Amino acid sequence: MASATNGTATVVRGAIVTMDPRKPRAEAMAVRGDRIVAVGSLAEARDAAGLGARELGFGDGAILPGLIDTHNHMFWTGIQSRIVDLSRAASIADIQARIRDYAARHPKAPWIVSGEGWHVVNLKEQRYPTRQELDAACADRPVYLPRVGHAAVANSRALAIAGISRDTPEPAGGRIERDSSGEPTGVLLEMPAFEPVARHVPTLSHDDRLASLEEIQKTYHAVGITGIIDPGVNPETLGVYQDLWSAGRLTMRSVVMPLADSSRPPDEVMAGLKAWGVRTGFGDARLRLGGIKLFVDGGASLGTALMREPHPDERCNCGIQVTSTDMLRRIAHFCAERRWSLGVHVVGGKAIDLALEVFEEVDRAHSIRDLRFCLIHAYLWPSERNIAMARRLGVVVATQPSMQYTFGPILVKRFGAALMAKATPIRDWLDGGVVVGGGSDSPITPFSPLLGLWQATTRRIEGSDEAIGREEVISAEEALTLYTRNGAYLSFAEHERGMLRPGMLADWIALSVDPLKADPDRVHEATVRMTAVGGEVVHGG
Ligand SMILES: [Zn+2]
Repeated sequence: MASATNGTATVVRGAIVTMDPRKPRAEAMAVRGDRIVAVGSLAEARDAAGLGARELGFGDGAILPGLIDTHNHMFWTGIQSRIVDLSRAASIADIQARIRDYAARHPKAPWIVSGEGWHVVNLKEQRYPTRQELDAACADRPVYLPRVGHAAVANSRALAIAGISRDTPEPAGGRIERDSSGEPTGVLLEMPAFEPVARHVPTLSHDDRLASLEEIQKTYHAVGITGIIDPGVNPETLGVYQDLWSAGRLTMRSVVMPLADSSRPPDEVMAGLKAWGVRTGFGDARLRLGGIKLFVDGGASLGTALMREPHPDERCNCGIQVTSTDMLRRIAHFCAERRWSLGVHVVGGKAIDLALEVFEEVDRAHSIRDLRFCLIHAYLWPSERNIAMARRLGVVVATQPSMQYTFGPILVKRFGAALMAKATPIRDWLDGGVVVGGGSDSPITPFSPLLGLWQATTRRIEGSDEAIGREEVISAEEALTLYTRNGAYLSFAEHERGMLRPGMLADWIALSVDPLKADPDRVHEATVRMTAVGGEVVHGG
């Protein structure tokens, strides 16, 4: 008796790295429908696949479970490709040229808006442009250059539209930079400062958004990603995901985290969260709700991470606490009570301390142990106590080796190599028994998981041949675990993803090298020959 899911099977031959501790290696696997039906010898796989099965053979390299990025703003990365791209800007003159060029090519665009993935550290001047410099590139239309979710620069026109002037009071949880005469420079730090501008930026059409999300998935599949956690989506974005999903075109396994916007009044935020009738886990293997996402502090490369000690180059600046402790407590209580998971953006040590203390307090009222509350980034020096607490509370960590790679140079400059050796201490988290998922924070830092696998095993940073913190190096197998089994655990999907085992989803990739045997540098340069999601070839077919 044949049925649709019982159709033709496929045998995949090659050096199979299953990531299944019960059977780490195999020579073939059989796939039927969207599931793996056998993993073992070629004869076993052929037997399970039956007559008429198609065979895919990969001589060298390895077959691995599809890779999972546990912190990837996929929707946002897709949008980036449609606006002013500053990702390679090397000077303020460069930024001006790109604005002029975009403005000339889009004469009808009411606003000139850039992507978020640009970095002051890459600019010759080592500072943000001013509104006057943006005015020089385009003064007759508003220009808005947001950066990595924590900062933005606006030209005079955009500031005027938002009503930001010398008389605007400093917003709580944000900072409007001013010159010596008290006039805003155009630089706006943290959401409460730039939201009044961002609110006026016209949004792309629904069709444009749908198309950009569909396109970016293909780019991800080409580097081996089969699953992501998109941290911090609003209801509108969730709608775009749903439309792609219901059209059968969401090829990426996507776990989406609704963002709690803590710049709004607490009662409004709580009412918004309570309005969700669903909770973490809702959805299917393709599109699922993850935890609530909340920002606790700023970013390291921006000097707004919440630190235990002042930032060395800025006396008295210990960073910015974006969400009040009271609000964090209320949201964590809500999540524990309503069985939502919660992922908190915490970069600096003080933010990590604060989050874990609140989690522990909440746990005494309602256990959070099976909710997988998550520390996102957690990289400027989690303490031994933090690690022990996280383990006790079942708290997981989403880490981004590519962030260490990209921001390494500026952070070494700011904090020194000795301190940076202990940033992103993946070795310590793992030794402390904490589940750590790998990721990228794309579009902030590059999304290739091959870069991440390489960085975690070498601790290299951009523009240097030196390892920063050799004692935090993890093995190739541990690194792969971050992007497979642990990624599946952070995605609430370890029962069907992260391993190649009969019964699990047939999400796999064929890589040109075996990452468990090859020199790490070769992993970085490897190519993904084929990617399949649920048995369907989505790259390299
Ligand atoms: Zn992020």
